[in-house]
Amino acid sequence: MRILITGGAGFLGSHLCDKLSSQGHDLICLDNFFTGRKQNIAHLLGTPRFELARHDVIDPFKFEVDQIYNLACPASPPHYQYNPIKTVKTSVMGAINCLGLAKRVKARVFQASTSEVYGDPTVHPQPESYWGNVNPIGRRSCYDEGKRCAETLFFDYHRENKVDIRIVRIFNTYGPRMNPDDGRVVSNFIVQALRGEDLTVYGDGQQTRSFCYVDDLIDGFVRLMNQTATVGPVNLGNPGEFTMLQLAELVLQQVGGKSKIIHQALPADDPRQRRPDITLAKKHLGGWEPRVPLEEGLKHTIAYFKTQV
Ligand code: NAD
Ligand code: UDP
Repeated sequence: MRILITGGAGFLGSHLCDKLSSQGHDLICLDNFFTGRKQNIAHLLGTPRFELARHDVIDPFKFEVDQIYNLACPASPPHYQYNPIKTVKTSVMGAINCLGLAKRVKARVFQASTSEVYGDPTVHPQPESYWGNVNPIGRRSCYDEGKRCAETLFFDYHRENKVDIRIVRIFNTYGPRMNPDDGRVVSNFIVQALRGEDLTVYGDGQQTRSFCYVDDLIDGFVRLMNQTATVGPVNLGNPGEFTMLQLAELVLQQVGGKSKIIHQALPADDPRQRRPDITLAKKHLGGWEPRVPLEEGLKHTIAYFKTQV
């Protein structure tokens, strides 16, 4: 197949390019390099079935493709809050441009949505049927509401124009190729520990997240895209739930060194807890479930960051 991956030079996008490339597909990676890096896809450049397009998803594009994976959007809070209006445009206009193209060329189109659509959840763990608890006017809203609007657009194109859609709601995912300056918690803690700096736990560190290793997530992406039982949304993530203090301690155990844990202010609207209900994914994605426990995934990720910092 010919496949377009927007945001293909980012953390998740580059792993998706690897997976699809290993399956023999022709790939077009579209990226504006806001948070993505050429080094993530350097090994694919110059191979016969891989093309790179430096382009912004908010501007229309045309490619004759069979499938589109729409991943373009900064994912880390410091990066998506850097230019919040651009973040909304990326989510909303990026979705419209992908859906318009999918409609024209009859491609199947996949949206990388997020557990952020659940906001600070009042239901725990979160099933896809939960509508969420999102502040529409806060610092995180450009991302949360942008992604929620993208889901709306996907369903409206599906209902009105019969566009063949798939939507995944991704819970916190980590692994090699995260940008050392990304600002998300796993990369922050590992980079801080490797540099001998103190680990910055925001707030009391009792807030929880569920961390999925990148290989498990990408396997779920491709399964979701290529099945016909559901268009989604489907949660993908690892149901193991950890407090940020537990994560900091795990990282310190594995990296060693003299770093201590220090506390800094909790960002506004920081969700208190998050854990995916993955019943739907297990049912529709051929028994998919995460295989890599946090301890093992951290080992691979730390090994990667040792080459970067
Ligand atoms: P990332 O920041 O590493 O990757 C995003 C990619 O999109 C980068 O290559 C960036 O340069 C590109 N991009 C950003 N704005 C663009 C634009 N306007 N035009 C073209 N390219 C643009 O983040 P990631 O973790 O790889 O996330 C990929 C996708 O998955 C995002 O849509 C994100 O919202 C979603 N997601 C990720 C997680 C996670 O835990 N990693 C969780 C939920 C959702
Ligand atoms: N966090 C932290 N220290 C950091 C970065 C993040 O304690 O250096 C916390 C953050 O406040 C949040 C959790 O870790 O509670 C996950 O943050 P991240 O930015 O990775 O993703 P989120 O799930 O909030 O989008």
